[in-house]
Amino acid sequence: MVSWHKLRKRVHLFCFLAFLALPFFNVVRFDIPKERFYFAGYELWINEFAIVFFAMMFLMFLVVASSVFYGRVYCGYMCPQMIFSDAAVALGTWLRKRVTKKFPRWKPPMREGVARGLFYAVLAVASVGLAFIFICYFVEPRDLWRRLASLDMHTAAGICGAAVTLVAFLDFALVRHRFCTTVCPYGYLQGLLGDGNTLLVQYRDETHACIECKKCVRVCPMEIDIRDSPFQIECIHCAECVDACEEVMTRLKKPTLIHYVWGEKGELVSDPSSRPWYRRVGLRDAKRVVVLVVLLLYASGLFVALGMRRAVLVQVSPVRAQLYRIGADGRIYNQFRYLIANRGGKPGAVVFSIQQLPGASLAMAPNPVRVRPGESATGDFEISRPAGRRDELVSHFTILTNTVPDGVSDAIPMTFLAPTESK
Ligand code: SF4
Ligand code: SF4
Repeated sequence: MVSWHKLRKRVHLFCFLAFLALPFFNVVRFDIPKERFYFAGYELWINEFAIVFFAMMFLMFLVVASSVFYGRVYCGYMCPQMIFSDAAVALGTWLRKRVTKKFPRWKPPMREGVARGLFYAVLAVASVGLAFIFICYFVEPRDLWRRLASLDMHTAAGICGAAVTLVAFLDFALVRHRFCTTVCPYGYLQGLLGDGNTLLVQYRDETHACIECKKCVRVCPMEIDIRDSPFQIECIHCAECVDACEEVMTRLKKPTLIHYVWGEKGELVSDPSSRPWYRRVGLRDAKRVVVLVVLLLYASGLFVALGMRRAVLVQVSPVRAQLYRIGADGRIYNQFRYLIANRGGKPGAVVFSIQQLPGASLAMAPNPVRVRPGESATGDFEISRPAGRRDELVSHFTILTNTVPDGVSDAIPMTFLAPTESK
């Protein structure tokens, strides 16, 4: 079986590539200047409350469910802070070894100084790249690139870019894994979400077989001793200590002492007698079934809301500042206002017509109204009808809208006001 370390590094690589790709493919992106939320390739407008709500709740509940089932596995395997902290440590160690190998005659402080200088230089370039990707989650990537190319330090995006670069540099040069136990609230939240069936890394040594080699301590990125407790706030369940102990104890032909376990008193994850399959994936009690059901409900709600979504939104409302107007031609005019939002990726056009208002005509130019992708249009138009019977103060009729090329039709109920007496 592949070691936890190798598995973790593969997941790190996958998550790193995903972190790079997500904003460019609009999988998850919150475009602040445009006030748009991009999710799974959909461009959602902030006023699409149902979808934004379900998307947010789904993502939030996904984090909660992962903590209830698998504890701090997100921290150890998927968190960008952890991935880049590990990478910064690995880079520093690699540079130190390279410099030592290349210049064996130099004094150690000199080698250390050169390695450190190289590390800071590489980190500075990497911080610009990381800051760029991070801000791409909030600003359109091409727009951000233009700002970066012109060394824009005046707009919010430019200032944020410079600030995030500085924070990233200081973070990965000085703070690294300490961030998890000082700044990040997720580790503390984890203590509230976990229970007796949550995945843990635990030291179990009923036979006192530990040889005190301390390899588990040396490999720990958080610099703790897992033998003290499986509930240390610093422990990110990365399983580096699991691999380390297994390596030592295998050489001694003894069973390993550190394991992934389902809760403090639960079975080992590696226990082959752990049956059936749903217990092996962590579905171990009613609470987890409820968590999974809620997660599926949010996912279904999101799916349904996305399925019902219309690319072109049309709203029509009457302008009642003046109830009606009697034109020079003797006809009675009512004014209306339209708002068209094209939330899709293709140009759209909306054709307006009226129904159930005898003798009425629609004064609207242009009709159809064309709206480019991602834009909205608003305008006023009038509907008139002959001054005939004045006993109808309010006539109910319908405004029909037909969206091209989607072919979606809407019937909007509306009222037409007329004077009750001749003037
Ligand atoms: S690696 Fe295993 S044997 Fe060595 S100190 Fe840690 S628990 Fe004990
Ligand atoms: S104690 Fe083990 S699982 Fe916890 S952070 Fe350290 S190496 Fe990772």
